[in-house]
Amino acid sequence: MPMSAQFKNRLAPLLPQIVHTFGTPFHIYDETGINQTCDELNTAFEKIDGFKEYFAVKALPNPSIMTLLKNKGFGFDCSSTPEITLSRNIGSQGKDIMFTSNNTSTQQFKTALNKEGCILNLDDISLISKLPEIPELICFRYNPGSRRNGNKIIGNPMESKYGVTHDQIVAAYKKSMDLGIKRFGIHTMLASNELDYTYMVETCDMLLAIIKEVHGKLGIQFDFINIGGGLGIPYTPNTPEFDLSAMAAGITRSFRAFKKQNGWAPKLYMESGRFITGPHGALVTSVINHKKTYRDYVGVDTSMSALMRPGMYEAYHHIHIHNKEDAPTKKVDVVGALCENNDKFAVQRDLPATVEGDILVIHDTGAHGHAMGFNYNGQLRPKELLLRKDLGVELIRRAETMDDYFTTLNFDRKTMGPVSNFHP
Ligand SMILES: *Cc1c(COP(=O)(O)O)cnc(C)c1O
Repeated sequence: MPMSAQFKNRLAPLLPQIVHTFGTPFHIYDETGINQTCDELNTAFEKIDGFKEYFAVKALPNPSIMTLLKNKGFGFDCSSTPEITLSRNIGSQGKDIMFTSNNTSTQQFKTALNKEGCILNLDDISLISKLPEIPELICFRYNPGSRRNGNKIIGNPMESKYGVTHDQIVAAYKKSMDLGIKRFGIHTMLASNELDYTYMVETCDMLLAIIKEVHGKLGIQFDFINIGGGLGIPYTPNTPEFDLSAMAAGITRSFRAFKKQNGWAPKLYMESGRFITGPHGALVTSVINHKKTYRDYVGVDTSMSALMRPGMYEAYHHIHIHNKEDAPTKKVDVVGALCENNDKFAVQRDLPATVEGDILVIHDTGAHGHAMGFNYNGQLRPKELLLRKDLGVELIRRAETMDDYFTTLNFDRKTMGPVSNFHP
């Protein structure tokens, strides 16, 4: 079932008043649902000592949401200085932040390693000697290459730019030990929107096998393994939900076996984004136009700049029309205002007939939704709201304005040349 059913029920009676108060379009997130998913995750893995989820900030980089997650004991997975800053601004620091960057500049390492610190997750063996200082703990991102099939979305690990190869991994830890680094972790990220839990268990087993190998060669006892994110959510109505408890049971078994065999076990880290917040967000938009040409079009007051997944990946997002769910349907394309023909939230979708002013709820926009927004064609990103657990509603990011759009044109002039006596 796409979009948490409880969220839908909570939202329905409030929606007209929310639309009246805040105006469309907006993304709205559900505090109760987010809290529940956090609790489910923590409970599922409670038998593994030191389990910790590092929420992938890129999925929903809003401080109000991140604060909810922090209160559930989550850390944050960041890949840029602004994401680290966002996490630090809500009070996370040190081991609560994992910096999983790639193609990283020295400047970014400097900020990451400043006095507040973080866990550094290096994407390449060459980066060790570029660190501005030697941290106490280091993690490497592992890319299994041909040893593993990537999942459908992320693709073949052999073609992926990320991570250290199997042949490099022992040398990477050896080099780190030689530099005086004392504690170690290992990370991988191979899946995206994966609905088969066995893939995640296999990823865990793969990392446990590698740390065993590295331990055999270098004597390192790993602090943690991080199995990445990529847990899927059902975007289409008939897709079954990801089986979190089966995944947790499988991984818990693997950890027990590892501990029994080796006398020690690492902690388990994870960095889900989509699974945590995806189903607990929706994009609410109003119908402003109808057009009948070769197809029937329903025009809404937002565009793919507020939700890029359908246009970019042809991703399905379920849509319902507030108060009209049981009305007779017809096939329509639901479109925004961008001058790009892929600016469509739905293509040839059976939806109840609408009139201007009807409210469309586009499901499952709580992850990689607002965050992927952009300004192409002068489109401004919408506001974000939070449905609190007491059913109050709070503005947690205002809509972009024209002034925002023009701020980067506000700058001190700088010119060079022309160089008059330039001789090539
Ligand atoms: C995007 C990303 C994630 C989160 O992916 P989800 O599909 O949202 O779970 C986690 N880790 C890394 C390194 C990522 O790039």
